[in-house]
Amino acid sequence: MAIEIPPRLSLHTSADEKPAVRTITLTIDGQTVTTPSGKTVLHAAIEAGIYIPHLCDYHDLTPFAGCRMCLVEVEKMHGLETACTIVARDGMVVKTNSALARQHQRGVLEVLLSDHPDRCLNCPRMERCGPFVVCQRDDVVTDRCVTCPRNKNCELQRVVDFIQWREQRFFNPRRIGEPERSNPFVERYPDYCIYCARCVRVCDEVIGVSALGLAHRGMDVSIAVDFEKPLTESGCIYCGRCAVVCPTGALMKTDSKYATAPTEKTTPSVCTYCGVGCSMFLNTAQGRLANVMADKDGASNHDNLCVRGQFAYDYAQHKDRLRVPQIGRDGTLREATWDEALDAVGNGLTAIREAHGPDAIGFIGSGKTTNEESYLFQKLARAAIGTNNIDDPTARYCYAPTVRALMAAFGSAGPTVPARDIEDAGCVMVIGSHTVETHPVLSFWVKRVTRHGGRMILIDPRATEMSRLASLHLRPRPGTDAALLNGMLRVIVDEGLVARDFIEARAEGFDALVASLAPFSLAEVGRITGVPQADIEIAARLYASGGTDKRYPIPSSLWGEVVWPGQSPATNSSVVVYASGITQYANGENAVRAIANLAVSTGQIGKHAAGIVPLTGQNNTLGAVDMGCVPDLLPGYRSVDDVGARAALGAAWQSDLPTTAGADLDTMIDRIESGAIRALYVMGSNPARSLPNTDRVRAALAKLELLIVQDIFPTETAALASIVLPAASAMEKDGTFTNTERRVQKVNAAQRPVGQSRPDWQIVAAIGRRVAVDSAWGDRQFGYSTPSDVMDEISRVVPIYGGVSHDRLGVDGLQWPVADRDDAGASTFYTRGFESGRARLAPAAYVDDGTATSDKHPFLAVTGRSALWNTGAISSRSRGLTKMWGDVEASVNSDDALRLGIGAGDLVAIESAHGRVEMRVKLSSELLAGQVFVPIHHREQPINHLVDGRAGGTLKSVAVRLERLAGPAPKSAAKSQTGGFLTLPILTTSRLNR
Ligand code: SF4
Repeated sequence: MAIEIPPRLSLHTSADEKPAVRTITLTIDGQTVTTPSGKTVLHAAIEAGIYIPHLCDYHDLTPFAGCRMCLVEVEKMHGLETACTIVARDGMVVKTNSALARQHQRGVLEVLLSDHPDRCLNCPRMERCGPFVVCQRDDVVTDRCVTCPRNKNCELQRVVDFIQWREQRFFNPRRIGEPERSNPFVERYPDYCIYCARCVRVCDEVIGVSALGLAHRGMDVSIAVDFEKPLTESGCIYCGRCAVVCPTGALMKTDSKYATAPTEKTTPSVCTYCGVGCSMFLNTAQGRLANVMADKDGASNHDNLCVRGQFAYDYAQHKDRLRVPQIGRDGTLREATWDEALDAVGNGLTAIREAHGPDAIGFIGSGKTTNEESYLFQKLARAAIGTNNIDDPTARYCYAPTVRALMAAFGSAGPTVPARDIEDAGCVMVIGSHTVETHPVLSFWVKRVTRHGGRMILIDPRATEMSRLASLHLRPRPGTDAALLNGMLRVIVDEGLVARDFIEARAEGFDALVASLAPFSLAEVGRITGVPQADIEIAARLYASGGTDKRYPIPSSLWGEVVWPGQSPATNSSVVVYASGITQYANGENAVRAIANLAVSTGQIGKHAAGIVPLTGQNNTLGAVDMGCVPDLLPGYRSVDDVGARAALGAAWQSDLPTTAGADLDTMIDRIESGAIRALYVMGSNPARSLPNTDRVRAALAKLELLIVQDIFPTETAALASIVLPAASAMEKDGTFTNTERRVQKVNAAQRPVGQSRPDWQIVAAIGRRVAVDSAWGDRQFGYSTPSDVMDEISRVVPIYGGVSHDRLGVDGLQWPVADRDDAGASTFYTRGFESGRARLAPAAYVDDGTATSDKHPFLAVTGRSALWNTGAISSRSRGLTKMWGDVEASVNSDDALRLGIGAGDLVAIESAHGRVEMRVKLSSELLAGQVFVPIHHREQPINHLVDGRAGGTLKSVAVRLERLAGPAPKSAAKSQTGGFLTLPILTTSRLNR
C-alpha cells in the first residue's frame, strides 16, 4: 500500500512541461511587438499595452467582428480591417490611430449610439453629480448615470472617452425595454444593450447552455430568451457569466448593482462549495464581503463560476452563524468564554482517554476545512490522543471506494487528467454524475468534447441536461454500473479492441481479468442493467477507439449545430468522469475497479486527455484524504500498517503512533452504541444529517458522554452537543484547499471572523496543547503561529506535498505530487509508468446490492445533489439559492404520477423499510418509470432517514412506496410550474446511426 514517491518527472507529465511556442514580431503604431503566433492583432496590441477600442471581443470567445469598433489600417492590405479577426503575422505593420482609422471608429460609434441612452456618456456634470443628487434632466430612471450599476465600470464609457465622442449626427427612435428581474441572480436592462452578443456567445461557446439568443433583425434586433420569455423559463443555470462579460449595464449581477462595487480590497481565494475549486476574488466593502469575481487566470475555472460560487457566498454573513462558544447538553447550552470551552474540551478528552483509553474517542473531520486544519485534526487524533479513529463523511461515502480501487490498480489514488484537458478528448464517458448541477464549471469542459466533434457517452438512469449533448445515453438500473462496465470490457476483448502493446508493457493480470468476464455476456449484462445490448456494444467501441469509430457520427440535434464549424477533436483519447452516482452504491469500489480495467485494457490512460477523473464532492474532500482524515491511511496515502511511514511520522511528531486501523464512521456509530466510544469530536461535519439511517445515528450521538461540535452554523449535530465551538468560515481564514484534480490552491481571509468565531486550525491547535500529556510537547507540536507554519510541516512529513508552501501557490496552485521546491507538480499521471510498477488488472465483481423493489416498496428512490449543496447547512443560508430552489421537491416519473393520481406540487409520503419522509413532488420526464429522485440538501427533509447503507451497503438508492397525502399548497404549486431549471425536452435514447 505504501507509495514510494518516485524521482521527479519519472512517471508523470510535469505541470511545467509545455510545448514550445513560436513567436512573431509586428509593428503596431510604430511600436515593435513580439507575441506568440496565432493571436489576433487586437490581442497582440492589448498585451503590448496599446488600446484599440472594441466592444464585442472577449478573451475566451471566438472572434465575432459584430461591433466593428476595432477598425485598423494594415500596410499592404486594402481598406480597413477589424483587429479582432485579423491574425497577427511576422512583419505586419498596423496603424490603429491613423486619421482614417479614427474617422471610421468614430463613425461606427455614432451609429452604435444612435439609439443608446447617452447621459451617462456625455453629461458635463458626470464627474460632479453625487449619488443622491436628483438629476434635473431625468426622464427615464435608467438614464441616470449615477444609478446605472455599471457607471464608471462600463466599457462603452471607456470607448466614448477614448474616441472623444461628444456629438451625435444619427438618431434612431429609442427602444425602451422593460427591465427583467425574474430571478434573484441576474437582471436585464434592455435599454443599455449594444447587441455585441457577448452574452449570447459566452452562454453558447463556454457554458454550453444557449439560454440567450439574438432575436429579430435590423433595427428590431434584441437579446432574448426563446419566445421572449423570462430567464426563469430558459435553460439558464444562473452562472452569471453573461452579466460578467456584458460591456455595459444591460445584464447585471443583482449583487453588484448600485453601490455594491468593491470599495476596499479584493482578495484572491477559492470557492467553498464543490471540488472543482474555482479561483475567485472576494471583494469587500465596509469590512464585509460585497461580491465575488471569477479569476480570469484561474487554472481550475478560467474566468468561470457557477451559481453557487458567483452568488452563494452570502452565507458567511447569515444571522445564524455561531458566534460564541457554548457548553451544556440537550438544548441547555449556555454561552461560555473561549478559555472555558477549550478547557472543557481538553479536560473532557483527557479524562476519557485516561479512564477508557485513546480508542474511546472518535474524530469526524470534513471535506470543507483546509488542508492545514485537516492535518492538525488527524495529528490531534493520532499523536496527541493516540487513536486512528478518524473519518470524514464525504471521504467515506463518496471517495473511499475510489481510493481503494485506484490504489490497488495503480498505486496512487489521484485523478489522472487535469480537468481542463477533458475538452481535448475524442470521447468522454460520464458515469453517475449530474455534472451540470454538481460540478458545473467542470461540465463546461465536458460539453466541449461534443462541440469539438468528439463523442460523449452518458451513463445515468436520469435523462439529465447532459443527455442533450450525449452521443449515447445508457440508462442502467441504479447500482448496476459495475456489470455494465464489465459488459463493455467483454465487447472490447471479444472484438479485439484491446491495446495489446500497452498491456504487455505496462500491466499485469490481464488473463485473469479476461477469464472473470465470462459471466458478463451481453445478454446477461442486458438483463442485469436493462441497457439494450446494441448500446453496450456501441459504448465499448466508442470508448476503445477514443471516439473515432466512424460508424457512429454525431447525430443532428433539435438544438441546432452541435459541433462548432471547423472543429475536430484534439486527440483520440478517452477519459472517464465519474462521481458519487457510482461510488455510493454497494458495487462502487468494483465499478471504479472496472473503470480502471477499461482504461488500462484499451491504453486510454497515461497520455494527454486520456484517463480517469473522479469528482470529489466538497471543496476539500481530496485534501482531507491527502491529509489522512481516514482511519486506515496516514497523511500522503501511507497505510497505518506501514512501519516505515509510521516511524517517520512518529519521529516528526515525537510520539508513538497507534498501530492498527481505526474505526470508520459506521464502526464508530456501532462502538458508540456499544459504549466503546464515549467522546466524539466533530469538525465541520454534520453526521446527524449526512450519515445514513439518521434516526439511529442521532440516538447514538445522544448517548455520548462528550460530543464536541465545531462548525460555522448550528447543525443538527450541534443540537446534540455538549460543547459547541464557533468556527470561522473559509472567507475568514488562510490555508489551502486541494481540488478534484490534485491542485493545491491558496485560500485567503477577506473579512474578520464573525463574532468570536476562530479559524479551525487555531481551535484544534489550542486543544492539542490542552490534551498533551507533556505541556512542553504540546507547545512544540501545536504551537503554530500561522497556517503557513502548518503547511511547512506538512511539506516536511507528507512526501506528495514535499514542495508545497504558501508562498509557491500562485494563480495555478500546484498539482501533487510535488517532490521539492523545484518541482512544478504533475499534470497528467502515468505518462511514463505507474506508481505500482505495472498497473494491476483485477476482476471487478458485481453483486446484487439488495435494493430491489418489492410489492410493498415498488419504487426505487435515488438520492442525489441538485442546485443546493450537501446537507444544506451552508447553501440553504444563501438568500438567492433558497429563493430559487428552497422548496424541497422529489421528482416522480410523470406516468407513475398519473397512475397514482399524484399531481405537481402534491404532498407525498415516501416510505422505505428504514424510515419515512413527506415532501412535495414535481413531475419529471427525466426519470424512468418506477424511479423517484430525492435531493439530499434540504434541512427540513433529511433523506437519510430512508437509507441504511451501513458496512459498504448502498447509500444512493432505496426501495420505497409513495402515498399521496394532500394536494398542492398554493406556493408549491406555482413554484413547480415556473421555478428552477427548465426541464427541456430531451432525446433520451441512443440517437446514433447503427
Ligand atoms: Fe464553486 Fe464548484 Fe461552482 Fe466552481 S463549479 S463556482 S467550485 S460550486
